[in-house]
Order: sequence, then C-alpha cells, then structure tokens
Amino acid sequence: MVSAQMTSWQWWHPNPYWPNDYSFAQRLYGYGSVNKNPESIAIEQSTAQRIFVEIAVPSSSPGLLTYESTLSSAMTNITSPGSIVEVDVRGRPKVGVVIARTEPPTYACKPILKAIWGQPTIPDSLLKLMLWVSQYYLCPLPRLIHLCAPGAIWKAAADTKRAKRYKSDALPGQEPPQLGVKLRGERSYGDGALTLASEQHAAVSVILRGDDAPSIDADHPAKIEFATTLLEGVTGSGKTEVYLACAKAVLAMGRSVLVLVPEIALTPQMTMRFRAHFGQDLAVIHSGLTTAEVEREWYRIALGQARIVLGVRRGVFAPLQSIGLIIVDEEHDASYKSDDYPCVHSRDVAIKRAQLEGSLCILGSASPSLESHINVQRGLYRHVTLHRRQRGAQPQIEIFDSRPFFRSFKSTESNTKTRTRSVERSTDLSFQNAIILPQILNEISACKNRGEQSMIIVNRRGFANFALCLSCGQAQKCPHCEVTTTLHKAGTLEICHHCGFKVAARTNCVSCNSTHLESRGFGTQMVEREIAQALPELKLDRLDRDIMTSPTRLSELLNRFRAGESDALIGTQILSKGHDFPRVSLVAILHLEDSLFLPDFRSSERTFQLLLQSAGRAGRGDVPGRVVVQSLQPEHPVLLAVRSHQSEKFYRDETSLRRMAGLPPFVRQVLLLLENRDEVALSRDAYSLKRTIDEHLRQSQESAVRLIGPHPAPVERLGGQFRAQIILCLPKTTLPRMAVPAAILGERFGTSGFRIDVDPQNFM
Ligand code: ADP
Ligand code: ZN
Ligand code: ZN
Repeated sequence: MVSAQMTSWQWWHPNPYWPNDYSFAQRLYGYGSVNKNPESIAIEQSTAQRIFVEIAVPSSSPGLLTYESTLSSAMTNITSPGSIVEVDVRGRPKVGVVIARTEPPTYACKPILKAIWGQPTIPDSLLKLMLWVSQYYLCPLPRLIHLCAPGAIWKAAADTKRAKRYKSDALPGQEPPQLGVKLRGERSYGDGALTLASEQHAAVSVILRGDDAPSIDADHPAKIEFATTLLEGVTGSGKTEVYLACAKAVLAMGRSVLVLVPEIALTPQMTMRFRAHFGQDLAVIHSGLTTAEVEREWYRIALGQARIVLGVRRGVFAPLQSIGLIIVDEEHDASYKSDDYPCVHSRDVAIKRAQLEGSLCILGSASPSLESHINVQRGLYRHVTLHRRQRGAQPQIEIFDSRPFFRSFKSTESNTKTRTRSVERSTDLSFQNAIILPQILNEISACKNRGEQSMIIVNRRGFANFALCLSCGQAQKCPHCEVTTTLHKAGTLEICHHCGFKVAARTNCVSCNSTHLESRGFGTQMVEREIAQALPELKLDRLDRDIMTSPTRLSELLNRFRAGESDALIGTQILSKGHDFPRVSLVAILHLEDSLFLPDFRSSERTFQLLLQSAGRAGRGDVPGRVVVQSLQPEHPVLLAVRSHQSEKFYRDETSLRRMAGLPPFVRQVLLLLENRDEVALSRDAYSLKRTIDEHLRQSQESAVRLIGPHPAPVERLGGQFRAQIILCLPKTTLPRMAVPAAILGERFGTSGFRIDVDPQNFM
C-alpha cells in the first residue's frame, strides 16, 4: 500500500528539469508545514493511521490549507493528489484540490467534508506543471489552479447535481471513448481531406519521427517522446493541414492532443477545420463561452470524452490526460503572454507541459519569435519550413514615404500655430484629417472598384508618448540604448526605460536638429473617420476591443466581411493574425513606425512580424495580393528585410544586437510593478523595494543580477494610480526565485499594489 501511494508522490522529488523544489514553494507562500521527504512521511502515516493532506482552495487562500481525511478506507483515493474535495473554510463549504499528503500538524485540523467525484480529476502531470509554473512565475499555486477549471467548479453548492449530469455517461473505470478505429494505419486524412503536398509530408515526418527521410510510416510516429519542432511556413502554406495530420496520427496512438491559438478571434476558423475531422472528440475552451458551455467542455475533457482540445492561452491548463502532442499556432504572438497576474507565457508553459508529458510539441508561425529561432540554432528544436503557398502567390510589398506629405502639411499649419513642441494627448493629433496618404486612399478606392476587399491595419501598440521628428522621421532615442525615450511630466522630461537615462525634453531633433518634434500615438477610430470622409461610398467596418470581447459580434463582423457585405475592414494588428479571407487583395498598414518607436527592445521584432503576418492576409484567393505600407522610415532595415524576403538577415542582425546589448533571450528579465494612488508613498515603497532586493542579492551572492530603476512606468498613471517599476536582469543560469526574495512575494508591497512579471513582454 505504501508503494502504491509513493507513485503518486513522485513529482515531489527534485526532478532534473525542475530548477526548484517543493519545500521552496511552501516557504514562498507561508504554507503551514514544511514537508519532510516522502519516505519518512509514509512511515509515520503507516504507524499513525491518520492521513493529512494539503489542499489548495482557490477561492479562499493563497497558501495551502491542511485537512485530515477521516473518510473510510474505501475512499482513500480522495487523498491522492488532484482529487477534488469539499472542505470547511471559516464555516463555509469550499471546493479545493488535494496537492499532497503532509505530516500531522501541531494543531487540531478539520476533516475533509466529502469527495466530489471520488476520483482524481486534475491529472498528476497537470499538477506538476502548475507547481513548476507557480515557482517559475512566482505565483501562488491556488491562484494557478483556479485557472485550470471554470469558475463554477469552485462553488460547492449544486455540485452533486452537476457531477451526476456530467458523469452519467462515463462511469469510473470506463475506457475513454476511442476515436474511430478506421483512423489507425489509414493514409488519407479523413473526409474532404487533402492529399498533403510533398513539403507538408516531409514536415509531418520531421515532427513525428525527427527525420524527413521518405518512408512508408512517415505519418506515424514510432514512439512518442518529448521533442519540439518549429514549423515555419508563410501564411497559406498549409501549416494547419500539417497540424491535422499530426493530430490524427497521435490520436490513433491513443494519446490526446492540445491545440493553442493566441486570440479568441482565431477560434471560429480553427474550430471549423478541426471539427470537420474530429467531430465530438474535439472540445473548445475560451473565455467567450457561456458558463454552462465552459463547464460542459471542461467535464468532457476531464472525463476523457474529448481527447482533442482547442484552447486560447490559458487552455494550456486543460485537464487532458496522456497528452501526445501540443500545437502552439502563431507561436510568436505576444498575446500568449498574459499581462494580468499571474503573468504566464502560454507558449512557454506549453513547451514545459510537453516536456512533463513526454509529448511532441509543434510551434507554428510564419514569422517565428527570435527566441524560437535561436533555440533552433542551438539545436534545441527541430525545424521544418514550408516555402510555398498552397493557393495564390506571395504578395508584393510597396512602401510609401509619408515624410514629404506631412512636412508640407505641417508647415502650412505652423503658420497659424506657435511653433512650440506639441505635447498634446495622443488623441489630439495636430495634423488631424491627414493621417492617411492620398495614394493609399486611392489604392483602397481602386480595390473596391475592382470588386475586391481591403484590410487597413493601424499599427498601434500601447499608448506611451514619444517625440517624433517630422522632418527626418526619427524618434528621439536614448543615447545608450536602441529604444525611444518616453515623455514624462507633461512632455518636459525624457526617460529611457531600459537604462534609466533622464534628460530634460530635447527641443531639437537629435539627428537633424529640426524643431518639428511631435508627441505621437493615435487610434483606429480617427482613421475610420478619415477614410469615411474621403471615400463615402466605401462600406467600412471596424474591428476593435469592444467587438473582440463578444464572440457573437465578432463572428458576425467577420462573416459580413467574408461574405463580401463590407468592402474594407479596419483594425489594429489583430487583423493581421491568421484570418483567411480569399477576396482580400489589398492590405494597407498605416503608421508602421509607431511600433518601431515604442520603448521596447522587441519593437523591431514586432514590426517584422506584423509585416510578414499582414502580407499573409493579402491575396489568399485567386486575386494576387498587394501590401502597401505608409511609413516615415521607408529605409528602415526591418522594412527592407521583409520587402526583399531576407528574414534570415533580420534574425541574424537582431540576434547579435540582443547579444551585445545583453537583452532577452540572452538574459532573463523580471519586471516589478508598483501602483499607488499616493505618489509619495509609491516612491517610498519603490525605494524600499529596491533596498530589499539589493540586500537579498548581496546576501545570496547573486552579483550578476542587474537592477534598473525604480523609475516611473511608461504609462505613469493608470486609473488614478501612479505606477513605478524596477527591472531585474538575470543571467540565464539564475532563476527568478533566486533574485526575488520570498518575503516580498504577494500582491502588495508596503501600501502599494505589487505585480511580478517574469519574462515581461509589455513594459507599459
Ligand atoms: P496556414 O495554416 O499555413 O495558413 P492552411 O493550412 O490554412 O495554411 O492552408 C492554406 C490553404 O491551402 C487552405 O485553404 C487549405 O485548404 C489549402 N491547402 C493546404 N494544404 C493543401 C494541399 N496539400 N493541397 C491543396 N490545398 C491545400
Ligand atoms: Zn530629425
Ligand atoms: Zn537607455
């Protein structure tokens, strides 16, 4: 009996892949007791005959709570990790998850009230994953566990009814429904399936078997073990077909499949294609579902009724068992990184999960992230490329220089205005009604006249103000870093958010000495208004945040566009992602430079990806595509690299730049953000935080860790809160938990709100 229990505890042993250990997590969040090693506990338990367990109760406490199991021996399986149970917390029934057995506490502890399903529901490997995530991202385990199941699961009431409803067709011990046996050994890919092109076939073989040697079994893995493949293929090159083929092969081997997309907007299209192949074996989970839908899908997954799951971001925590393949579509997409606490990166968690499950992992993209590209070079990932589009040709990219236009506009305007540096808010652009070049408006109009559709992408990420020179097109940069400085204090102060450089706002352009400096930032609505005025006959729709949150409005709008009821669709870079609209022949990108100038070292990479992705939207059908870019910097290396199809050069240059500048992925970063309504208290807390960390680093001899700040966040004030940040730069060998003292973990520091963001992507 003891040995049977031991197997479920194996995850607790230090694993070579986990950089940390369980007792650390306990100290981190002030858990009641510190566990001894499992062996000694097993002996104590066999003598004491009493079983105590630590339980995560997401709705109650950031730490684990200890309970005793007094239920009869027939029910002992409820004390195994992952069981969902009901316990009493301060007189209220609450739902929790058993994490691990523990030694008897020194205080009298309450009993577990009841088991909810009588068998483990959170798979062991998922618990291990969450333990790793909690330690890497410095976030309490119960908070994470809360993410892995829909809200309703955590409510004790009405639970029995629910359990009955979902359980009725899958009793314990019953085999999960198998995929039709006809899949096994079959060479074609299902109903209405395509015959894979030879490049696709080779890709499937590399993913499943690690080589592209033509062989009879190329589309079935010999055995499944952890391996990550970067599948690089221009949009339309047939990556999704490769996913489908791999998913079928893995399902046929009796393992399950997890598919992740970065945005809810991409689920309808992906669902359609996967549903056509897998029918009811597919479960779809995202935040746009109703509570009842989420719950139904979650139970179908947890009970093994759905063996292939399509999820957005946090779908990475779906309670699938025995995963054989994880697919991360659009792996480069920054949306995988959550800005909200806990700030996990779902792609990175997916790779970790694949490692823990011993499964295959595919990272798919037309414009891979620099991290993944570097991992290929290091030999950590396999790499396959799909070079050709299955339908249509690669679009032409044309760049329009907007400087002459703005210069002429600006000089007529400055006659009536005093020539002071503009410090207006982002919505008060001084050149109103002149955001779009007339050439671009002509292109949009001509496209409509040919009966084709256009997409207008307004490149706007974040809201920071920076000073842009309208004469030479350069943004004002830090003399020490390759990033723009951010305007603070109503435009009187420039701060570099990478090195802390500060200077009174410069009145002349650093490169050309012109005084035509202007603060920048603007929105899609203004662009929409301008186009509507210039082209009143154009049927124009706008895709923005409001629409993104309602899946019905979103799919209505996308369907309207697909059906040709609107001529043009305008939106942010969301539009550039994955959508397949055959009648789109023109993609216009406005103000491309706005992302180049953000105070973010990833801005070149993001711009590069935006361009490649946008190009992927044009000309997917029979009409050849065209991409027009309006830019103040037509000679920027990123633009040139994309136009001349020289991605390799971009990756090479960017890699050496990051290496030299000591930026990720060559170092690890941790962003500490403090928020307070009181500016003085904020500054006091920020410096006290800095001292605490400095002291910790000195004591732990982590001398290679660099601390930057504290300084005001680029968005200095948000919702009435002043914001300050500290950035830690760690060598790759140092883990976040080594640089951040356990004592400060939590959601408050001093009187300020506190957030820790490991591997931050958003510095705003
Ligand atoms: P991606 O995911 O790389 O953007 P898709 O898988 O969506 O590419 O494929 C793009 C288009 O090409 C789709 O309409 C798809 O049906 C078609 N396609 C993909 N593979 C093949 C193939 N082997 N033969 C014919 N058409 C294909
Ligand atoms: Zn200039
Ligand atoms: Zn700097």
